[in-house]
Amino acid sequence: MAHIPTISLIKGDGIGVDVAESAFAVMDAALLRCGAVAPKVQEIAAGAGYFAQTGLDIEPGGEEKAGEADAIFLGAIGLPSIRQEDGTEVSPHLRLRDRYQLYAGVRPIKAYPNAPQRLADPRAAGIDMIILRESTEGLFYSAAVHKRAEIIPNVEVRDIMRITRATTEKLHEFGFKLAEKRRARGKSGNLTCVDKANVFTSQAFFRQIFDETKVRYPDVNVSYNYVDAMALDLVRQPWNFDVMVMENMFGDILSDLAGGLVGGMGMASCGEIGETIGLFQPAHGSAPDIMGQDKANPLAAILSAGLMLDYIATKTQAENYEAAGALIDAAVDAGFAQNRLRPMEFGGDMGTIAVTEELIKIIGELP
Ligand code: ATP
Ligand code: MG
Repeated sequence: MAHIPTISLIKGDGIGVDVAESAFAVMDAALLRCGAVAPKVQEIAAGAGYFAQTGLDIEPGGEEKAGEADAIFLGAIGLPSIRQEDGTEVSPHLRLRDRYQLYAGVRPIKAYPNAPQRLADPRAAGIDMIILRESTEGLFYSAAVHKRAEIIPNVEVRDIMRITRATTEKLHEFGFKLAEKRRARGKSGNLTCVDKANVFTSQAFFRQIFDETKVRYPDVNVSYNYVDAMALDLVRQPWNFDVMVMENMFGDILSDLAGGLVGGMGMASCGEIGETIGLFQPAHGSAPDIMGQDKANPLAAILSAGLMLDYIATKTQAENYEAAGALIDAAVDAGFAQNRLRPMEFGGDMGTIAVTEELIKIIGELP
């Protein structure tokens, strides 16, 4: 019998709960429409709300359990009103990223018709690119779970830019495969190595490994950009880029810049992929300022679910999952083009539930 895909679902806190439920409703509709089997979903309790009740940020055994599935979906975690003893917000998802070494951060940046555009140039309507951000080391190595900054109190603090061969080889391999996949789907499939190889030894190493990997992918068109020039190009001519690969901190900054070109946080989808599992979530947080008001734009979560279906398709060969992922994207596209998706985030009249229901309708209508 064919493998039935499994998903670990962590709804989390605030609007995370609502947008995760929206995403799963849309995902189910897309899978059904494409004749794919429904996945087995196991829910895992985690987050600030759970911490307030139990003193734990994730249910006992939850980290292991999350990793047993083909993929993990996360709504959003953390609430500023609920703090741990050291004053920080709960963040079990950072441990998941570390535990499963989710090195490949995938942030699609796409212009949808009638969604907010910051650039007047008509070519901006064609923005469709991916920022691939290494997510376990780089300049974030000494932050996050490791807290390895070198500190001489009140005198000097050093954070470390760590670039390892092992992780960078996997990252570039991932980037070239992604570029090939994009080309097979009618995009340019150009791959840009974004670094600061002219100044930093670690960054020259990053580029060296890119060049080593390139030899195995002679059909992929590559280019190079220093990170500062990349920031300029993302504003001047973003439509000329397809996949851009970079270290952690550069990706953190440029993905927000790029996201700002095509809309708000409510459109920013995200996948974090490791060797054994991928975690998918909207790039935004729990948005306590609008929680419980049916105002959140669920599209970032919904698009992340689309990415997840594509990932599951590649990983498990599950039938029709790739088509269902593509259908979600096509439905969002059609919904904006026909002015049927008008999220409040963009000044429209549709709350979380209305956007979700309309999208499910569109999925039913698309050929
Ligand atoms: P985190 O630290 O978890 O990233 P954050 O403090 O950066 O969280 P978010 O929760 O992402 O903040 O919210 C930032 C702003 O964007 C808030 O004003 C929030 O209301 C808005 N926002 C975030 N997500 C959405 C969404 N899906 N729909 C509408 N507005 C959103
Ligand atoms: Mg944030």
